[in-house]
Amino acid sequence: CVVAGTMVGKRVKSRRRWTKVVKVLEEFEEGCATPVEKLRQVVDAMAVEMHAGLASEGGSKLKMLLTFVQNLPNGSEKGVYYGLDLGGTNFRVLRVQLGGQRSAILEPGVERQPIPEHLMTSTSEELFDFIAASLQKFVEKEGNGSVALEGKLRELGFTFSFPMKQASVSSGILIKWTKGFSIHDTVGKDVSECLNQALERRGLDMRVAVLINDTVGTLALGHYHDEDTVAAVIIGTGTNACYLERSDDIIKCQGLLTTSGAMVVNMEWGNFWSSHLPRTSYDIELDSESPNPNDQGFEKMISGMYLGDIVRRVILKMSQESDVFGLSFSKLLTPFILRSPLIAAMHEDDSPDLREVARILGEILEIGDVPLKVRKLVVKVCDVVTRRAARLAAAGIVGILKKMGRDGSGSTASGKVKGGSHTKMRRTVVAIEGALYTSYTLFREYLNDAIADILGEDISSHVVLKVMEDGSGMGAAVLAAAYSSSGQDTL
Ligand code: BGC
Ligand code: MG
Repeated sequence: CVVAGTMVGKRVKSRRRWTKVVKVLEEFEEGCATPVEKLRQVVDAMAVEMHAGLASEGGSKLKMLLTFVQNLPNGSEKGVYYGLDLGGTNFRVLRVQLGGQRSAILEPGVERQPIPEHLMTSTSEELFDFIAASLQKFVEKEGNGSVALEGKLRELGFTFSFPMKQASVSSGILIKWTKGFSIHDTVGKDVSECLNQALERRGLDMRVAVLINDTVGTLALGHYHDEDTVAAVIIGTGTNACYLERSDDIIKCQGLLTTSGAMVVNMEWGNFWSSHLPRTSYDIELDSESPNPNDQGFEKMISGMYLGDIVRRVILKMSQESDVFGLSFSKLLTPFILRSPLIAAMHEDDSPDLREVARILGEILEIGDVPLKVRKLVVKVCDVVTRRAARLAAAGIVGILKKMGRDGSGSTASGKVKGGSHTKMRRTVVAIEGALYTSYTLFREYLNDAIADILGEDISSHVVLKVMEDGSGMGAAVLAAAYSSSGQDTL
């Protein structure tokens, strides 16, 4: 019978297509595997690279940048200060009232707005004029209800979340852009000066008191609230970490650092690289097609800007290998069409028929009518990508703890406190910010679990990951207070 024959033929074909798709998935999963032994290798590599980056300029892909922040806020700061947070996706201005005794009031009317995309590739002057204009609008609206700053220069903590070479806490030269920004004439310039000049052009009586990375702001706010905070991590559009290092260990500038015993080091871990990282062909293609190839390799496996694009590439491969996604998948060819909030929404879809997955595939990728088993496949891809990202970030955090002698392994005393007859592990707080950790539950769980996996329950119980909401912006304002030249103690 001919009809029965074609039906059997169709079934065989469809089974073959499905086998191909499953093979793509299996190979991908294998390539992304992060068993705990592998994570430990990443931990060791991170600690080794940290040493190398501290030993000499250019000694590692980890830049280990000096921040000149040598004293972290302790809660006694007083006065009214401004924060400006220019990071990946959003831009925000805020004003904070500090009353001493750890009381920080974020004033109402805080503004958060997306950075207009054209500005990310415009000119330096356009970008800083836009920022100065936003600050001016913000200042003009204040008044009613807020403490006046009559006759006083407004002091600003400027969070600029890109790698900078600093020679003081209030200045820094942009080394390179990341996260899709590309404004050639800013590279090599002092970012503080750019903003101060734009403020001056507008006649605004405000100046940059401190210029910091977002990780440093997060660490500062963490320390403001809890003095056991010694490191900070951001996992948002981009990813990075900083920590408090002993001056003696910053070999590359011995003699230069005389005042205090420690300094915050901005690791720029987004650029970390090690042969132990589980890299797939999709990562290699993403990198080579990015505006910054061979750069920010760790970031491209972890942060929110890239997760969705890895997922897109895997699904695209699947649809090229077979027609499980139907025949029209042209939207899948659009880079960055799948943003990480969509990945989170699909991954965390708990409806029995994966309605949200179907909706996103239909609305964003214009792939309609996807059978349940294909929806499940998409969820699985999201899971593999997110799990790898979270576990690698966890390994990075443990790498820092190891460098600090707080991973429970070393013989150094710094991670221990004397307690009666035996020494105990010291409590270590890591401040953390960024939407991947704060708003993506499965990511957060994978990361927390991986830290416990690597360290073991005993040791990991002394490590606290504390979410610092608004850390990068508030932290900047608090640091501006700590480093203020005017000292508004009278307020
Ligand atoms: C930047 C870092 C920043 C991180 C998180 C990275 O792309 O290089 O300076 O801290 O993103 O925003
Ligand atoms: Mg940010």
